[in-house]
Amino acid sequence: GKILLTGANGFVAAHILGLLLERGHSVVGTVRSESKADQLYSLFPSYKNFLSFAYVPNIEVPGCWDEVIKSTPFDYVLHTASPYSSAFSGTDLLDPAIEGTKGILKAIKQYGNTVKRVVITGSFASSINLAKGDWPGKVYTEEDWNPVTYEEALTGSWAVTYLASKTFAEKAAWEFLETEKPDFDITVLTPPMVLGPVAHYVDSLENSNESTKLIWDLMNGSKETVPATIFWLYVDVRDLALAHILAFEKQEAGNQRILVTGPGNWSFQKAANILREIPEIRHLVPEGNPDEEFPKGGVHKSDVSKSVRLLGIEYRSMETSLVDTARNLLAVEKRL
Ligand code: NDP
Repeated sequence: GKILLTGANGFVAAHILGLLLERGHSVVGTVRSESKADQLYSLFPSYKNFLSFAYVPNIEVPGCWDEVIKSTPFDYVLHTASPYSSAFSGTDLLDPAIEGTKGILKAIKQYGNTVKRVVITGSFASSINLAKGDWPGKVYTEEDWNPVTYEEALTGSWAVTYLASKTFAEKAAWEFLETEKPDFDITVLTPPMVLGPVAHYVDSLENSNESTKLIWDLMNGSKETVPATIFWLYVDVRDLALAHILAFEKQEAGNQRILVTGPGNWSFQKAANILREIPEIRHLVPEGNPDEEFPKGGVHKSDVSKSVRLLGIEYRSMETSLVDTARNLLAVEKRL
């Protein structure tokens, strides 16, 4: 079928794009500019006939999706584009997330009557309750919502604003479904921190992607100490990408919010311990307190049974995910 993939040049989207093309789909990707399209063509040279691009320089602009939605009878839309960068703050984080989501749903309702489902890359950001901190004993499920207010989003730290941008964007999507009753349905995937090898175009490991940079910084010799952990959950980008495909292939995934998280908990200390098992980088990774991967009192967990039931995903372990990430980043460094 014909698929629209927004933010096609992103870290998560490049993995989704690879899977879509491998599975024989024709894809239109939205990117901000022609140079980003060229970079993607260079990554997928053998799929030129199955891949084209539409330019949407800023997803918060009203009507920005109309042209691309009118251009092609899409079967499915995968909406990944959303600002995830410390370069943006305040309404520059909030507006593209929220208006981008509302805008694409509106355009599809108006001009995209072939679209059967919209899969939205949400975030665990919209479930987490930051004020509860480690919250030992808590098991997060799809029932949980981040209680952040718009006021807090405007006045809080970058993390608070980013988490809120994803929360309000997702709320806007469900509200749209409720009030507008479109012919298509929606699936929202809510991944926590995403780890894994990079498949997108990277010209500098310093500004590849926010979550990738967390791993790169832990293994490039720049950290003397192991950073404090605030978020305790992770998922591998390859599992998340597959979840996007399964989310439109599986009928039962329609109108569902689905938590996609890897097994066990993430912490920087656990990551450091795993990375220090890799001989080439052992001396570059801070040692910290190897015996204290998690606070003594424990931390919250997540229940992924819904994703396993509806999508049938088998999640990669953190060891696999991190070792693959490290090997990949070392290879990228060598190439650059
Ligand atoms: P990237 O920064 O790599 O990708 C984000 C994409 O969105 C890029 O294509 C970017 O374009 C595009 N984009 C952002 N703002 C705008 C805008 N105003 N106008 C047009 N395009 C825009 O991030 P990820 O791949 O990590 O994130 C993808 C999705 O996954 C996002 O929705 C994010 O919230 C979600 N997510 C990511 C997590 C993670 O740990 N990585 C965790 C949980 C959810 P450009 O590159 O040109 O700026």
